[in-house]
Amino acid sequence: MEEASLPSISEELFKPLENWFIEAGEKPYRFRQLMDWYFKRPEVRSFDELANFPKALKEKLNENFAFLSLSLEDVNSAPDGSKKQTLILRDGFVTETVTMPMEGYSTVCLSTQVGCPVGCRFCFSGRHGLKRNLTAGEMADSLRCSLPASGAESLNLVIMGMGEPFYNYEALKAFLNICKGGFGIGSRRVTVSTVGVLPGIERFAQDFPQMNLAVSLHAPNEELRRKLIPRAPSEIKELLPSLKKYFAATKRLVTFEYAMIRDVNDSVMEAKELCELLRGFDCKVNLIPLNDVPGGEFKPSAKESLERFVNYLRERDMNVTVRRSLGGTVGGACGQLADKRNN
Ligand code: SF4
Repeated sequence: MEEASLPSISEELFKPLENWFIEAGEKPYRFRQLMDWYFKRPEVRSFDELANFPKALKEKLNENFAFLSLSLEDVNSAPDGSKKQTLILRDGFVTETVTMPMEGYSTVCLSTQVGCPVGCRFCFSGRHGLKRNLTAGEMADSLRCSLPASGAESLNLVIMGMGEPFYNYEALKAFLNICKGGFGIGSRRVTVSTVGVLPGIERFAQDFPQMNLAVSLHAPNEELRRKLIPRAPSEIKELLPSLKKYFAATKRLVTFEYAMIRDVNDSVMEAKELCELLRGFDCKVNLIPLNDVPGGEFKPSAKESLERFVNYLRERDMNVTVRRSLGGTVGGACGQLADKRNN
């Protein structure tokens, strides 16, 4: 059997891999040992490195499985300490992850699709449409290849890379369960970002009520939002009631993401409209200085406009933060992920 056609062990996590050990006449504890290697030793990338496995078992595993569903091609480090990992999937497509150092912990940003069907006009990741969904196993392997040396205990996970996570809900759900059970990442340390897929928001509230939800808003009215996100899956007038229901069910504050785009959505008029739109809704607003993308039609807001916008919201008691942009010099900041091999 060619190695490329073998299932990877992460893909088998969702099937009874344990049964394979029994059927192969191996002791059941070997399965648990393999899981320990997988979840606790991310630097290990092959069965041959499993020091406590006999040679015959390593050979049997090599004949039946690939250790990973992807390979780490490159790690690009930015001066701000963030790292972009380039990972080659077995069909040649590329996924990218970004690991960012924070005070006392790290944040890993993961993708859920190759490309993106939403095509926000300011985002490079969606420029060539959707190529395919990632499997849960590929997401788990991407995370594994991006874990900092300090391990999962001090890790925040944000699902904000390439793709719309709720368009790949089943795989996302399987992966998030692996994060909790296998990698041991606490639910409150996980944030999933959506552009507003209403059925996904409903399911997420039921399945993961302790995880965090971020929603890409980017404009305070429907007309402007449609210009920026032409294929937005819901209108603001449907989105807000759905998010209020989400808050009522989970008691978790929704974060609205708002990319600050020069002379497009960053005037005091838009700040005022945003305040009116979100008035009475217990939520957070995260302003994201726009990042440069190749051939991009938009520019980041001027510093003064950003300050004016922030102050306007703060003076009206809105819970507002400005995202620190990391990874820009290695193409790893928001909206920049898109390897040309996916085009
Ligand atoms: S911003 Fe997110 S939803 Fe929009 S195109 Fe980029 S990856 Fe897709």
